[in-house]
Amino acid sequence: SQLILQNSEKLTVAGQLAAGIAHEIRNPITVIKGFVHLMSSGFGDKEEYFRIMSSECERIEQILSELLVLAKPQTIKLEPKDIRLIMLQTITLLHSQAILNNVEIVTEFDPGVVMLQCDENQMKQVFINFIKNAIEAMPSGGTIKIQIKQRENDIIVRIIDDGTGIPPEILSKMGQPFYTTKEKGTGLGFMVSKRIIENHSGTIHIESEWNKGTTLEINLPFTRIDAFSAEIQMQPEIS
Ligand code: ADP
Ligand code: MG
Repeated sequence: SQLILQNSEKLTVAGQLAAGIAHEIRNPITVIKGFVHLMSSGFGDKEEYFRIMSSECERIEQILSELLVLAKPQTIKLEPKDIRLIMLQTITLLHSQAILNNVEIVTEFDPGVVMLQCDENQMKQVFINFIKNAIEAMPSGGTIKIQIKQRENDIIVRIIDDGTGIPPEILSKMGQPFYTTKEKGTGLGFMVSKRIIENHSGTIHIESEWNKGTTLEINLPFTRIDAFSAEIQMQPEIS
């Protein structure tokens, strides 16, 4: 009976997701259809129609690319990677967006090589989602502090913003697909990122205070049997 319960629970989640996807994709398609209709009747400003139609297509693409992470968890490719390097590359990717929003990104990394068995692209996706959320939470600018700490058995990544904070009623809805408070949000970033971290046996904790800011903490178990990092640790003894 446990198995049946699990299955029906999965169906409910799948059903919810399917309803959400249908709704989210039907909206831009309705808009595109409307403009195709207008254009075929020869009315209006074609340039403007093309601009809107193209931005609606981009929205569909964005939703689909975020959903594909959920659809293909089996393609996860684990390799030993330096998590600090992945974070620095992600920060570089978001550099211009941060500057445009008057946001400064500060890093506090523990010294030493922090190797983690992970899928580099998926880990980047997670960092992008969380840093973007932090930038978007600071409409008049601010500072994002990013910490990477190595403990006995896990790696801790913290993304700390001094933005709007998250009220409890929003916090409780954040895992739900398509829940967003933003006009142009997809409401998928958090759910997809949480899934990726869970696929890496990690966990996420959020601490937030309204008008003070949010601390998002990722805990990732640290694999010590990793041959590459063992080699690095052994080198000083050899010489
Ligand atoms: P999206 O960013 O597309 O809205 P997410 O799943 O990334 O979707 O986030 C869901 C919601 O959680 C956001 O709309 C926002 O209300 C809230 N949120 C997430 N991160 C933060 C943050 N750092 N500060 C304030 N609110 C946040
Ligand atoms: Mg987001």
